[in-house]
Amino acid sequence: MRFPVRKFLSYYRPYAKVFTLVLFCAFLTSAVSLVFPLLVRYITKEVLAGDLTKAMGEVYRVGALMLVLTAVQHVGNYIVDYRGHEIGARMERDMRSELFTHMQRLSFRFFDKRKTGELMSRITNDLLLLSELYHHGPEDYMKYFVRLIGAFVILLFINTPFTLVVFCFFPLLGFLSFYSNKKLNRALTANKEKIAEVNAQVEDSLAGIRVVQSFANEHVEKEKFDHINHLFLHSRKTTYRTEAVFYNSFETIIQLITITIIIMGSTLIVGDMLDLADLITFLLYVGFLVEPMQKLTHMSTQFQEGITGFQRFMDIMNLQPDIRNSNRAEKLTDVSGRIEFRNVTFRYENHLSPVLRDVTLRVEPGQFVALVGPSGAGKTTLCSLIPRFYDVTEGQVLVDGLDVRQADLSSLRSKIGIVQQDVYLFAGTVIDNIRYGKPGAGEEEIIEAAKRANAHDFIMGLAEGYHTEIGQRGVMLSGGQRQRLSIARVFLKDPPILILDEATSALDNESESIVKDSLDLLSKGRTTIVIAHRLSTIRGADRILVLSNEGIAEEGTHEELMERGSVYAQLYSK
Ligand code: ADP
Ligand code: MG
Repeated sequence: MRFPVRKFLSYYRPYAKVFTLVLFCAFLTSAVSLVFPLLVRYITKEVLAGDLTKAMGEVYRVGALMLVLTAVQHVGNYIVDYRGHEIGARMERDMRSELFTHMQRLSFRFFDKRKTGELMSRITNDLLLLSELYHHGPEDYMKYFVRLIGAFVILLFINTPFTLVVFCFFPLLGFLSFYSNKKLNRALTANKEKIAEVNAQVEDSLAGIRVVQSFANEHVEKEKFDHINHLFLHSRKTTYRTEAVFYNSFETIIQLITITIIIMGSTLIVGDMLDLADLITFLLYVGFLVEPMQKLTHMSTQFQEGITGFQRFMDIMNLQPDIRNSNRAEKLTDVSGRIEFRNVTFRYENHLSPVLRDVTLRVEPGQFVALVGPSGAGKTTLCSLIPRFYDVTEGQVLVDGLDVRQADLSSLRSKIGIVQQDVYLFAGTVIDNIRYGKPGAGEEEIIEAAKRANAHDFIMGLAEGYHTEIGQRGVMLSGGQRQRLSIARVFLKDPPILILDEATSALDNESESIVKDSLDLLSKGRTTIVIAHRLSTIRGADRILVLSNEGIAEEGTHEELMERGSVYAQLYSK
């Protein structure tokens, strides 16, 4: 992939003014620093070599100038260090927020394939590395470029042949840098992939810690973790080896430069072609070059890291959400709740054959329809096509006669309430979790919803009532309690369409009957599709649809289907 320079630079745009100031200060401080060896040369060569009785006055004057220059450098460096970093941190914040927003828009298909930990790593680690580049990059390049070129030009004026010989070493440094960069880049990319894998593994093991411990499978997790952790170590070793070779060679070359200057300079002095003050000036400027040259390696590391970080950032940013509003998306306002499937075929990306084949069905507003079929028949999949979590492979899904692909996505989803077997609660209080169904809802409204969901009483029994913290994913509540909170959410949301996907399957008999009562209340006046584990719970449905691999195999009321005595009757008698 070609590096997207424009995009990369665009993140500087909001901070253009401060950034210009920072660059100017970087220029100024390095230009000022170049003056110091010249002042030393002036003192040694002119002042102290002349009339010593008048020398001190001149030395004081030069000293005062040096103090002024130092003050300028001090202020300049403060601006470069503080404001420069600040810009970097701000840009990092901007990019992180952009990435997070973008990720949230990506579809289920994307998240089916990715590990949470890996994605987290992109938002944290990668951007941190990138911000290092944004922090120091341009200022450092400016500083060291000015110093290198400045020193070179000044030395040329002092003694041209000598300078050219000394600077002969530079192509060597350039070559070394080019060669090592390539290797380093590869190592750093591997590094980033490995740490992302470590994160993913930690995320997975810790999120599932209750399962891990209940199977006493800590050692299994440890082995998986150790394997990845070891691979990470290995890739870091490669990086460090490359860096060590690189850094050392640089230092050695710089030593060689110093040695060359001493020997060659002395020869020139003996041959009366150079004086001592010039030799000192040379050494001072070389001392000057050491830092930029050493930093050059560090900078190229930083540069490489930043670039790979940016590319990983762009990898995600370039993904178009495959489920998004079409150009002429229609907002759904008053939805009566008719749902239609017309010859719908659906296949998951990683499956060879379709899960749903030629499914046609129609649910009238306010109807209570049950969907049954063996596990894996595609009931959950079918329901996930209505809020357009996935797009159909063939055919059409319509809500109130409008193809869901033509509907404004958030308005469509606001019309559909889903209660599933697995409830996801966010870390936070009870009230915040219920309010999730309708952000901004007032306390009274929330309590009303909780009452209808049969949740009010148990909530009042919690230590801090509605303001009790429920722990990550609601671990401090029982399954039935979690389910009732999720039902309260949907009461609050008040959607015309309701999907109940095995909402009570995971519950014991007692909480099942409590939850069932609130679900019955919830489904009043709404188009409801219920997927039930126990067929006895759906006997009262207006219609029962039996899903098989060939589409809807049968449909009718409980009585009709029992009379017909085929698939449903067999499932029921089981
Ligand atoms: P049901 O709800 O009827 O038990 P599902 O709709 O959950 O069935 O699953 C139907 C089939 O689709 C299964 O074979 C399952 O493995 C597959 N499947 C479900 N979800 C996904 C997914 N996110 N990605 C790929 N395949 C899936
Ligand atoms: Mg299911």
